[in-house]
Amino acid sequence: MTTTFTATVLGSPRIGPHRELKRATESYWTGRIDADALQRVARDLRRQGLADLHSQGLDSIPVNTFSFYDQMLDTAVLLGALPDRVASVPDPLDRYFAAARGTDTIAPLEMTKWFDTNYHYLVPEISPSTTFSLDASKVLAELAEAHSDGIPARPVLIGPVTFLLLSKAIGTDEPLLTRLDELLPLYGDLLGKLADADASWVQIDEPALVCDRTDEEIEAARTAYEHLSSLGHRPAILLTSYFGSLGDALPALASTDVEGFAIDLVAGQDSIGSVPDLARKFVVAGVVDGRNVWRTDLDSALSTLGSLLGSVDTLAVSSSCSLLHVPYTLAAESGLDKALRSWLAFGTEKVREVVTLATALTQGRESVEDDFGLARAAASTRGNDKRLNDAALRGRLDAVLRSATGRAPAAQRRKIQAELLSLPPLPTTTIGSYPQTSKIRVARAALRKGEIGETEYVARMRAEIADVVALQEKLDLDVLVHGEPERNDMVQYFAEQLEGFFATASGWVQSYGTRCVRPPILYGDVSRPKPMTVDWITYAQSLTDKPVKGMLTGPVTILAWSFVRDDQPLSDSANQVALSIRDETIDLQAAGIRIIQVDEPALRELLPLRAADRPAYLDWSVGSFRLATSGVADSTAIHTHLCYSEFGAVISAIASLDADVTSIEAARSHMEVLDDLSAVGFDLGVGPGVYDIHSPRVPSVDEIAGSLREALNAVPVERLWVNPDCGLKTRGPLEVEASLRNLVEAAKLVRAEL
Ligand code: GLN
Ligand code: ZN
Repeated sequence: MTTTFTATVLGSPRIGPHRELKRATESYWTGRIDADALQRVARDLRRQGLADLHSQGLDSIPVNTFSFYDQMLDTAVLLGALPDRVASVPDPLDRYFAAARGTDTIAPLEMTKWFDTNYHYLVPEISPSTTFSLDASKVLAELAEAHSDGIPARPVLIGPVTFLLLSKAIGTDEPLLTRLDELLPLYGDLLGKLADADASWVQIDEPALVCDRTDEEIEAARTAYEHLSSLGHRPAILLTSYFGSLGDALPALASTDVEGFAIDLVAGQDSIGSVPDLARKFVVAGVVDGRNVWRTDLDSALSTLGSLLGSVDTLAVSSSCSLLHVPYTLAAESGLDKALRSWLAFGTEKVREVVTLATALTQGRESVEDDFGLARAAASTRGNDKRLNDAALRGRLDAVLRSATGRAPAAQRRKIQAELLSLPPLPTTTIGSYPQTSKIRVARAALRKGEIGETEYVARMRAEIADVVALQEKLDLDVLVHGEPERNDMVQYFAEQLEGFFATASGWVQSYGTRCVRPPILYGDVSRPKPMTVDWITYAQSLTDKPVKGMLTGPVTILAWSFVRDDQPLSDSANQVALSIRDETIDLQAAGIRIIQVDEPALRELLPLRAADRPAYLDWSVGSFRLATSGVADSTAIHTHLCYSEFGAVISAIASLDADVTSIEAARSHMEVLDDLSAVGFDLGVGPGVYDIHSPRVPSVDEIAGSLREALNAVPVERLWVNPDCGLKTRGPLEVEASLRNLVEAAKLVRAEL
């Protein structure tokens, strides 16, 4: 076998420690810098990143994990599979960005979540007319660049099976995997070129194989790797999976002549010892969690590694997945208390853990005993920290869970609420946010820099709220909102006010393209020192006689967009967050708020990759939503908002949420979603979005009225609400006003026809 290595990671962050790539790319888009300047920033970041990994002691380093936007898009370029509509853009870099973001005349590729992470990839489109062709320039250039810097580089590719399974078939019902035969010669060619360029290993990522796959799909994957591994002139293949177990795919793939397997032993439970073929393989054990921010328990990781020794030919240590999903380094966090800091590991710290474990494995523990000691000490202070075990909170949660009585049946609630609110049929409302104007951003920045004080900031936000309320009154909407000007982000806003969360200073993680997020860290028991939204909402309510909706984020979404505790089940954390949200709903109700919306746009995102794990997830996630929303009287209306229309596996769960009104995306799916809901017996209020807020286009009255008439075919009038698809914070004030004016007019038109 080719010489193996001992310590690696499967990929690393690429936006730059200070988001340099984001800034440079956005400057390029607006024409402030040229392509050469952008390429220089990219090259410097790549070289510095690889040099850092090398100097930390990794002896095989992933390359071609850099991307100007996304690795699936890079793979589409590699395989000549960009859609025809971008071909008219002459410059390759601009063509690439056109596929990613669209232009005035070209629609971009769709974007969707990368497995169950918060990273979004671009979905390649493959039609019967797509002719694949190899363009290896990117990977070869990055490999040469790394070699010239003396880096022991391992090129990384997305494998053909994952590429096809994650792409979208256009103009055909044939499964895309039938095109595998067309891709294999290209991958074969590419392996030859990589061998010519002195790559000793190539990492081929096939994460799609950790999802449920049919026997035919697994067989197709096995045949593909049997073929690739039979080629004579190629690097050794490290077949790589992450985010879960390979299950039946593992023995199938291990039967081929592929030399190595990188396996996620954090998210997955594959039993290496029960696959005899692995005894002749190089196995890269992903024991350092690449998706969360906790310091690794080195003793337990080392014992996992030790238990594998007899079952494999050679063993190396790695992160469980690419470090793309965690921030660069803890060194940038100055606000952390000492204890919390000692429990955490971001990218750089995780690399050190990998190297420490590899050293312990190959040379014994003596030289790295200090690191083991530190990890043990951190685990012990973490286990004993009172913030992780708030007895009063836990007692109260148990008591509420034991004694909570459900709400009255939905139809009964609807009647009580209708009497109290006396809304017209087809009531009009919005999802919560109004445009985040530059005035709002300026005020937030000024507060952060200390240029204005809290009082001035509150005054400015109140002025915004007053404007938004006045606008809604002028437009004659029925249920108003305060517009959410005070919220930087719908999760961070709450995390900053709840005990148990820590907001990082610069823990940026790429979400898609140049968009980065800073997920809060949930480290302790959650409680709510004081009301979080009541002042803002009651202020808005004081300005109008119409009902103002209180706006909250639900427990599942708060967890989905945070780094979460790994020392207790997610369901326990969800219930703790739910209790705080429940307290907030009770306070809002006491302050006179009659409608409260609890958003759960991430309910579907956390859905486990394997169907077998889904019922348990849906059970606790629905349970935590109901805990959060069942503390109020039957007369208080609970609304929720979900950000998508393909409900699939979660459709019955949506009914179980038992929210009085659910607003959903529907404009792009032409109300079909309403039939899907009826099919599972959904009989609650529903607000199918009547226009698409993802586009600046102002919908006409006729168009919206048409959608409403269509919706009335599927939903009786007493259950139908009228609203846009989603929040309006990314839109401009003028288009919002015009669109909402038409929305209200359309509702009035259709009302008159009833
Ligand atoms: N209430 C939020 C808003 O309007 C909901 C955002 C979302 O659906 N992601 O902005
Ligand atoms: Zn939404």
